[in-house]
Amino acid sequence: MIYLDYSATTPVSFEVLDTISKVTKEFVGNANSLHILGQKSAGLLESATKQIADIFGVNSSEIIYTSGATEANNMALIGASLANHKKGKHIIVSKLEHPSIYAICDYLKSIGFEISYVNNDSEGLIDFDHLKELVRDDTILVSICAVNSETGVRQPLKMIRQIIKKENIATLFHSDLTQAIGKIPVNLHDVDLASMSGHKIFGPKGIGFLYKSSMIKITPLLYGSGKYNELNPGTPPLPLIAALSKAIRLANVDLEKKERFVSLINEKIVNELKKYPNIIINKTKYSIPQILNISVMDVMPESLIHALEKHEIYIGTNTACSSGDISSSIMAIYDDQKRAKHTLRISLSHVTTTDEINKFLEKFCEEYEKLGSLK
Ligand code: PMP
Repeated sequence: MIYLDYSATTPVSFEVLDTISKVTKEFVGNANSLHILGQKSAGLLESATKQIADIFGVNSSEIIYTSGATEANNMALIGASLANHKKGKHIIVSKLEHPSIYAICDYLKSIGFEISYVNNDSEGLIDFDHLKELVRDDTILVSICAVNSETGVRQPLKMIRQIIKKENIATLFHSDLTQAIGKIPVNLHDVDLASMSGHKIFGPKGIGFLYKSSMIKITPLLYGSGKYNELNPGTPPLPLIAALSKAIRLANVDLEKKERFVSLINEKIVNELKKYPNIIINKTKYSIPQILNISVMDVMPESLIHALEKHEIYIGTNTACSSGDISSSIMAIYDDQKRAKHTLRISLSHVTTTDEINKFLEKFCEEYEKLGSLK
């Protein structure tokens, strides 16, 4: 099998699987229990969380476990909006967010919040002047993702934070870091709130976290028992938490080296596909190499996906969470319906091999030419 859909999800690494298995077997106690088994689990919970917090240079109490990025985005946007609704009801998001952010915005709109959408330029970069204009006295929150899941376009979070805070120091800044962690360096001090997900970094599905700066308050969405964190009630899923901690640690090893390798294989694909006049490479100067978006203008993307699947080669359409829809990110950057309807996402990782890319290119060209000649 040749798997090139790493931005949709990643396989769990062997080291992480070992952690899940070991913790499941050896830490049976509930971390909230008073007895020695509970205390042993509480100790591991504390050390796994501290390891995550140390990697990002934050405090353990600022890490709130969630089932993944969707839940973290919900906690951040709804929690911050409910906590600040007396100061204002205005929220700003970009046009390059994950569908979960727009679904949450629809809910917030239905309960009386106002959403503005900040423009971006033709390279996908946030329009800083527009952002400045949009931030008002009643703007309580801005949410802009660090890396767009469909095109890989990255945003300069530090600069965005400066613009927001200069206009309104009380406006909170949330960023969805799901496609950034493990691919590019991130600094949690650039944001007040951040979301991430374990299954994008060779960790298990069902675990992620919300970073919440201790300087800010959000309203809890979940209520229950448990003493670990008031935003995190219930029994901590220790095997998943330990696995997340391991996955984050591994993801941050040799980040630059991994990125250099992925750049090379990305270039190889681009150079090969450039020969087709009806394939557009949707790559801007801000795209990270791990996500390569193309528009196959003369063939339906689903047909190619299924043709490649027969060779056990797996690539994606736009984001896995909105498969079948037209790509909202391509629309936001290029404003071209056809180009947005014909996108394919090839997502790469440091475990991809050059042999896999050679084989992928061979089969891709074969199937693409076949589908083209059928028309
Ligand atoms: N945000 C981004 C940027 C994503 O790419 C994804 C996964 N497609 C999510 C949020 C949702 O993550 P999860 O599957 O962990 O809920």
